[in-house]
Amino acid sequence: MVIETRSPEETFETGRKLGEKAVPGQVFTLMGDLGVGKTVFTQGLARGLGIQEPVSSPTFTIVQVYEEGRLPFYHFDVYRIGDVEEMDEVGYDDYIMGDGVSLIEWADLIEEILPEKRTEVRIEKDLEQGFDYRKITIRELGR
Ligand code: ADP
Ligand code: MG
Repeated sequence: MVIETRSPEETFETGRKLGEKAVPGQVFTLMGDLGVGKTVFTQGLARGLGIQEPVSSPTFTIVQVYEEGRLPFYHFDVYRIGDVEEMDEVGYDDYIMGDGVSLIEWADLIEEILPEKRTEVRIEKDLEQGFDYRKITIRELGR
């Protein structure tokens, strides 16, 4: 599925719709360059899960846990990870195999430990279409 957006609000809305439909144990993997809109998408997804508190990138903690929504939400940002073993230390397996919803920004950096079954979200710019244009490609993998 490909969705084209032309504002942060539209990308938020795309995330929100997926958050509303998310099921226990679902894992979203986000890929795309810095500033492309991964966190905007994530904020929408969190809202779709019923989370009201502000969601920002957990840059210094790798994972941020939100318990107030319809399902627990585990937001990873692995941009600064040095080695995939750091994921063990934060309890990665327990999160992604649990009943909450996991979302991993910069998932391509930990490709070798991603679950086969996941919802892959790739966000890209195309400057010929304008500064605020984003192409969001969503694929169900491993089913
Ligand atoms: P990332 O997490 O991928 O590094 P952010 O979500 O933090 O990126 O930032 C995306 C930036 O791009 C925001 O400043 C946002 O306002 C801007 N932006 C412009 N157009 C869009 C769009 N269509 N979708 C998402 N963000 C957009
Ligand atoms: Mg981000």
